[in-house]
Amino acid sequence: MAMIFKNARIFSPSHSPATEGNDFAECMVIKKGQIVHVGSLDAVDVPEDATIVDLQNKIVMPGFIDGHVHILQYGLSLRKVDLIKCTSLEQIRELVKSYADTHPSVPRILCRGWIQSMVDGEPLAIMLDDIDPRPIYIEAADLHSTWCSTAALDEMQAHTTPDPPGGTIHRDKNGRASGLLSEGAVMNFVWPFLERATSKEHKLSALRTAIRTYSAAGYTGIVDMAMSEDPWEILNLYRRDNKIPFHIAVHWLVPFSYNQEDNFKYVDRAIELRRQFPNPDFHIAGIKLMCDGVVDGCTAALRQPYGGNLDPIEPIWPSNLMSSVIQRADTANLQVAIHAIGDQAVHQSISILSTLPILKQRRHRIEHLELTSPADAKRLGELGITASVQPVHSDPAHFKAWPNLIGKDRCKRAFAYKDFLDGGAIIAIGTDAPTAPHFPFENLYSATTRRSVVDPGSTETLNPEFGLELVQAVAGATEGAAYARFADGWTGRLEEGLSADFVVVDMQWGAGKLLEAKVCQTWYRGVKVFDVDDDVEVDANEGSGS
Ligand SMILES: [Zn+2]
Repeated sequence: MAMIFKNARIFSPSHSPATEGNDFAECMVIKKGQIVHVGSLDAVDVPEDATIVDLQNKIVMPGFIDGHVHILQYGLSLRKVDLIKCTSLEQIRELVKSYADTHPSVPRILCRGWIQSMVDGEPLAIMLDDIDPRPIYIEAADLHSTWCSTAALDEMQAHTTPDPPGGTIHRDKNGRASGLLSEGAVMNFVWPFLERATSKEHKLSALRTAIRTYSAAGYTGIVDMAMSEDPWEILNLYRRDNKIPFHIAVHWLVPFSYNQEDNFKYVDRAIELRRQFPNPDFHIAGIKLMCDGVVDGCTAALRQPYGGNLDPIEPIWPSNLMSSVIQRADTANLQVAIHAIGDQAVHQSISILSTLPILKQRRHRIEHLELTSPADAKRLGELGITASVQPVHSDPAHFKAWPNLIGKDRCKRAFAYKDFLDGGAIIAIGTDAPTAPHFPFENLYSATTRRSVVDPGSTETLNPEFGLELVQAVAGATEGAAYARFADGWTGRLEEGLSADFVVVDMQWGAGKLLEAKVCQTWYRGVKVFDVDDDVEVDANEGSGS
């Protein structure tokens, strides 16, 4: 049965990829999960049994695709104490204490949203120990550091554990763990420990919350960007009993090791899983490598040292090891996604990717690209490397530490999105939730206005010359993200023949109005999977698919 959406503003830019103009059509017709017409209502031969929906001038956009997210971690993060609004150690302690007092039965206290600059100097376990005897874990907003109480360090046996590759367990002068763990020590030590300590039921219910939250926010697709065995098992368990109302592509994390055979094992596992999961709705797109850390933690690899230091921070992966891991994945037709934030990490990543023989067809991608030289920004497009960016990370409110860390001059090259586009690169937009909020319109607001979402009253901007036009930003969050995971042939645009994946939005068209946009409905494969007017979201299991 056909459904006709009329009296709408169907976002269908006449140029694809959308680089200019912002065209809207008045009508869209869907049938059997597909879009069969976008254009004028007059051109439609209305069948007798058609359902006609009057959208009352609301905007219809392609369903959003989060180009970079960690969906299970996002779900789990919703149950942690959120410290993002704290500005001092005292405030952090108060919040943790009040959570501890009101949650006497939880085995450990998990917190999120801490930013290094909230605490003077290096955070220590003793700053937390007297709050509660239970283990306390405080993860940084960027997820690249965790600050632990002594009880947490004890239960992980951090004191006697050597530093994992690419990471540091910070220690006091006696060699005992002092509270802070960074980079590889978080990903390869703290997370696996907490994964083992968290029950399957808890994870499944966190995943359910995450999936429903994403659907309600207007997403019809995600790219999960650092998959490992444990979340993979949970995703599959969930899928066994539930329909997920969006498509999922996954990049398998290859954690860095100096032992190249270990690295190859992860690549081979990704190759094997890709064979087992050929369905584009749920599949392994490729691998993920962490080439460096983050600027706030002084772990991003920069061409010049951080202010006050003599030695530059090197990328986590030495070039030769990274290169042969990438070749192995590329030969097996896997996509490579490289986390590279600092200009040195970006440079190394581009240089290695540029040696691959059939680069453009593979759609390899670099994640974050926070600091890039003009030459490297341009090379992305020349080489066909997708620029995968998370605009909400460029919030001026989160940028405060940068000038001190790298100097004002280098800050002028931060988040140079417009450069990537001008160089011909495809931009894929994501949120990197849970490192940032998952809302698509906040992300578009950051990308276009370069103003703060955290502090919308402030008129401060960050390098506004690198901002995107609204139509370019929407394209990045829809067709660009679809392209980046080889889904552009069937979704990402509102076009005849593509999947009916779309979102109905109550909004005024304009970058300055994005924070007021309200998602009214989300449709996936022609089925309404979220409706703001229903008390509870429509369960994806109930959809008929026709
Ligand atoms: Zn990420």
